[in-house]
Amino acid sequence: MRDKTKVIHEGYEKDSQATMAVPIYQSTAYEFRDATHAANLFELKELGNIYTRLMNPTTDVFEKRFASLEGGVAAIATSSGMAALFNTIANVAEAGDNILCSSKLYGGTLTLTAHTIKRFGIEARYFDPHRPQELEALIDEKSKLILFESISNPSIDVADFEPIVKIAQKHRIITAVDNTVATPIHCKPLKLGCDIAIHSTSKYTTGQGLAIGGIVVERESLVDLLKENPRYTHFTTPDASYHGLVYTDLPLPPFSLRMRLALLRDLGNTPSPFNSWLFIQGLEHLPLRMRQHSDSALEIAHFLEDHPKVKKVNYPLLPSNANYPYAQKYLNNGASGLLSFEVENFDDALKIVDRTKLFSLVVNIGDSKSIITHPASTTHQQLNAQELKEAGVPSGLIRLSIGIEDSADLIDDLKQALEG
Ligand SMILES: *Cc1c(COP(=O)(O)O)cnc(C)c1O
Repeated sequence: MRDKTKVIHEGYEKDSQATMAVPIYQSTAYEFRDATHAANLFELKELGNIYTRLMNPTTDVFEKRFASLEGGVAAIATSSGMAALFNTIANVAEAGDNILCSSKLYGGTLTLTAHTIKRFGIEARYFDPHRPQELEALIDEKSKLILFESISNPSIDVADFEPIVKIAQKHRIITAVDNTVATPIHCKPLKLGCDIAIHSTSKYTTGQGLAIGGIVVERESLVDLLKENPRYTHFTTPDASYHGLVYTDLPLPPFSLRMRLALLRDLGNTPSPFNSWLFIQGLEHLPLRMRQHSDSALEIAHFLEDHPKVKKVNYPLLPSNANYPYAQKYLNNGASGLLSFEVENFDDALKIVDRTKLFSLVVNIGDSKSIITHPASTTHQQLNAQELKEAGVPSGLIRLSIGIEDSADLIDDLKQALEG
């Protein structure tokens, strides 16, 4: 099946009521047939529903559909994108270990890796995703994960996958890619040789800003990387917390199995069935929406590039952009709806933000409604002029998340805001 068919049909087998729409199984727990059935489920002799902290039939459809869309074999849905990121790190690293992270990350991922996991004894070491040669010098025997974003938020950089994957394979380290901005419609990290794809489903997956959620997708045959690999002995030796279970001994995707049985069990950062149902609705039109987000973003990028009040426009599909060669190489069907542009100074930027009528001033992305933000007065307010420069956030920088309204109306709105 192709993507546009998968998002409609994959992973749903109609139950006894034969409902066309996937039902919301709003239930905390499930009845066992008898005591033997219950024991078999807990021993994994049989697979089935136990308790919604671990699994749920509505969430299961969402997980299967998303895994298939990413070209993976299994997925674990979580209560947020940040939970998906934390669970991925916790599934591979423990106190004394380190992870290698792109320096171009989402703000929450930066604070998670630089501060929160540090208190758990896990060190984050940062590399530039356009200079992957820096990566090799950071690796040692305690390195457990390479983490980067396919299209980074907010800097809108496209990672140079090929050399990163080469280094990861040489050292037999798991690579995880936050694919939130690109979505599987524009980028398929698992097909590019990465092991794990992570998403905040709060963004383009719901598409309408309806719910917070996340998902972690595992590639096929990850077991081959885990076996006889001294970095990941917790997958290949008995887990005392699950009466001696060895994850790689079972014929199931081991990364997802451990995340479900050990991490969802103990951390409980599971989505509600209702939110999984909302994500299923969103996925159905994800391919159509991404095409529109992307086409409009490119059109608006060209409009801004030609406008005399605009100093610079950042969008990966503009030939003037440093990311253009990477976008050509790694992205398909467009480059998503995020773009940024620079005007003369802080005050001009504020005026433009205030004059727009269709764009809402919001700190979110991936909504069908267009969004405008001025990082220097909001997300990056605490930085001084020099720090702003180093972070790649000039004081006149404005970021747009282009929605799916008519692009001519969005251009009219930006035009009156720039010239007002
Ligand atoms: C929003 C976002 C996250 C965090 O997701 P939440 O669902 O808000 O927890 C992580 N990574 C990227 C790239 C994001 O845009």
